[in-house]
Amino acid sequence: MNFIDKVQVDVRAGNGGNGALSFRHEKFIAKGGPDGGDGGNGGDVVLEASNNQNTLAAFRYQKEVVAEHGQPGGKRRKHGKSAPDLIVKVPVGTVATTSDGVVLADLISDGQREVIAHGGKGGFGNAHFVSSTRQAPKFAEKGEPGDELSLTFELKMIADAGLVGLPNAGKSTLLSRISNARPEIADYPFTTLTPNLGVVDVGGESVLFADIPGLIEGAAEGKGLGHDFLRHIERTAVIVHLVDAYNDNVAEAYQTVEAELKAYSASLAKRPHVVVLNKIEGLDEEIVNDLLAQLARVAPKHTPLFAISAQAGTNVQDMLYAVKDAVAKERTKQAPQQSEEAVPVLTLDDTSREWNVQPTESGFMVSGPKIERFAKRTDFNNDEAVQRLRDIMRREGILHELERQGIEPGESVMIGTEPKNRFTY
Ligand code: GDP
Ligand code: MG
Repeated sequence: MNFIDKVQVDVRAGNGGNGALSFRHEKFIAKGGPDGGDGGNGGDVVLEASNNQNTLAAFRYQKEVVAEHGQPGGKRRKHGKSAPDLIVKVPVGTVATTSDGVVLADLISDGQREVIAHGGKGGFGNAHFVSSTRQAPKFAEKGEPGDELSLTFELKMIADAGLVGLPNAGKSTLLSRISNARPEIADYPFTTLTPNLGVVDVGGESVLFADIPGLIEGAAEGKGLGHDFLRHIERTAVIVHLVDAYNDNVAEAYQTVEAELKAYSASLAKRPHVVVLNKIEGLDEEIVNDLLAQLARVAPKHTPLFAISAQAGTNVQDMLYAVKDAVAKERTKQAPQQSEEAVPVLTLDDTSREWNVQPTESGFMVSGPKIERFAKRTDFNNDEAVQRLRDIMRREGILHELERQGIEPGESVMIGTEPKNRFTY
């Protein structure tokens, strides 16, 4: 059984629609005013995590995800329609990563949404550019291109229950007795430690157990813990704390592990617990009850307590049902949380002055997110559009910097890395 599903998907957000270049055309009016409408915005591509999806198998056939473009503006100030966002459903646990390893979305709860590719903004029509000094603008903006990315979608399992307990408490024994499948772990490349995972069928539902103390012990020995694996452990809904009934002092054993767990992750230590006394098959009921009472004194109030024998199977099913219920309760409590915008978005009124001017062999190169965005919206074949870009560059101080660096008339100014986006100074 392979739990780690990985696919390569090309993602394209919609382009913004072009602004219209148009003049009013009416009978008996010789020269109408500019009336070109704005283009609509391109659609975003949005990932939505869903509990109804189990695999990424659909993407083995559908390798492209493409949102619609915005409509162009029209005459009579008609604005183009913006395209709807494209919502792509993926299983909870899906992580979307760029080829550079940047995580764009890490979907951990049902209903959570992340924008993975932003649609381009529509361009302004020429009607937008009317001003006291410019009454008949003969240019309009182009729509901005939408984001285009090649992404990896990877489905990572999220452990439901984390098993903790001192060495020899019986964690491995329990896991091997109850689990009916071993998830493939070879894909965790960091493993100097082999994480111990098991899928347990409880009344037809599966609960994924992870043996956490193995990791804690490894950490104490200075072995590297893989970030990839930890993220699943961190999301464990419930801690199942196993205590060996043959400990001299079960309360102390319990507290030792809890302190260790807390040092490792305070948030994990606060997760709901199920406390399990193990190896009871040879013990009198009276003794078992006494040991349970000792544990009840140190465990948080209302913590379910069980006495089991992992070896003989005594009470194991009851305990598993309690774990399953606790997991379900915790998962519904973890409301879908929207994380911050995954991709930073620049707005055109962004006041940051981050640009750079650099001489190159074929003229000057201007770079900077804001000015490059303007360049993408500029029709370089239209002199007036280029003039507007120059005006913006003057306001930003970029022309001044070009002059300071000794630009001569006739030299080429390129904005960003797109070769088309250049004009002659
Ligand atoms: P871990 O270190 O927590 O993973 O513990 P192990 O699963 O390796 O178990 C440690 C020892 O306890 C082994 O010798 C097991 O056979 C034994 N053991 C585990 N569960 C039980 C049980 O329910 N009863 C008895 N008598 N021994 C058990
Ligand atoms: Mg073990």
